Amino acid sequence: MNILPRIILKKGKEKPILRGHPWVFSGAVAGAEGDLVPGEIGEVYSGGGDFLGMGQFNPRSQIILRMLTRRKEVLDASFFRERLLQADALRKRELRGKTDGYRVINGEGDFLPGLIVDRYGKTLVLQCLTAGMERLKGLFVDLLVERFTPKSIFERSDVPTRREEGLPELRGLLYGEELPDRVEIEEYGCRFKVDVKEGQKTGFYLDQRENRFSLREISQGRKILDCFCYSGGFSVHAGMGGAGEITLIDSSGEALERVKDHFALNHLEGIRPHLIKGDGFEVMRNLEPGYDIVVLDPPPFAKKKSHLPGASRGYKDLNLQALRLLKKEGLLFTFSCSHHMNWDLFQKIVFAAAVDAGRRVQLLGRKSHPVDHPVNLSHPEGEYLRGLVLRVL
Ligand code: SAH
Repeated sequence: MNILPRIILKKGKEKPILRGHPWVFSGAVAGAEGDLVPGEIGEVYSGGGDFLGMGQFNPRSQIILRMLTRRKEVLDASFFRERLLQADALRKRELRGKTDGYRVINGEGDFLPGLIVDRYGKTLVLQCLTAGMERLKGLFVDLLVERFTPKSIFERSDVPTRREEGLPELRGLLYGEELPDRVEIEEYGCRFKVDVKEGQKTGFYLDQRENRFSLREISQGRKILDCFCYSGGFSVHAGMGGAGEITLIDSSGEALERVKDHFALNHLEGIRPHLIKGDGFEVMRNLEPGYDIVVLDPPPFAKKKSHLPGASRGYKDLNLQALRLLKKEGLLFTFSCSHHMNWDLFQKIVFAAAVDAGRRVQLLGRKSHPVDHPVNLSHPEGEYLRGLVLRVL
């Protein structure tokens, strides 16, 4: 075996690694041996000289190493194939027959730090977030072809966080046929046309699938407000569940065009969606109360920890407006997808909004991401989607 470059940690800094955390921060490193080439595989040792594991370096990033294994082993195609098959087994067992749009690999949550793969029918979308995964991209394309025989694999590594890794933003076809403008998926019997090339994220908010479905089950005859609707995921489910009236708000005109397509595609001609293009904060302030259900699914307001105070004000304002718009016994589905907004803080903010709205509010349940977005228990940072289901009196 070749001698691999290694980093040696400061005394005591091995604890998170021993507990399974996948990140080594540069501040924890006492020294290095060999060339730490961005993306290359190497080893990590404790200050006392104990071998801790192997991972991918990036000396340019604050996260200098992402762990792949705690064992001394060869990290070759069969190692990564095994990880891919492990991830696939979970999806096959849990999602077969429910949807052909799902996350195949969820980075750290599937023990493949920095790699996201989403599946939309016969199309796969790959996102490499780290220098390590950038180097393995060709290998993963081969493994994905071997496992899924997709028609196409498209890359959507056009995310600003790549800059922190010293990588350019990339978008384009990696394998197979040129993509059509839209790729169709079926999620719990609802059909959606996903814009893989230009859409938000990798084209669709797969993480809200189960929450959309749970809305559908209680939508019969209800008057619904879907704020931050994107291409209408929640509303199409609500429509399939027999919703009476649906109002949708989004700042993206393109997203609202997709809503119209999705209502037609799912034969929801009976419900004429009321589409409002604009800022969710402004639009909600000017609506009249009288809704049975409000869904609030805003973009992440706190991408950095330092954004939390401003984000908190934003979430409070939105939730205050939503509570004001709900009828007695109405339901609020309110979400945050900010990594830094923990459950406790989110609930406190919604509580403060309830106090200001002068409403009595019951917590009926919590919502998060589905099984195809697993979180490594040793890496709680991987959890980001937090939702509360509330009943307003
Ligand atoms: N609920 C959607 C996903 C919502 S993502 C689904 O299930 O698919 C967040 C959405 O908020 C995006 O569509 C984005 O265009 C929209 N958005 C961002 N800022 C906004 C603002 N200030 N006002 C209204 N919509 C906004």
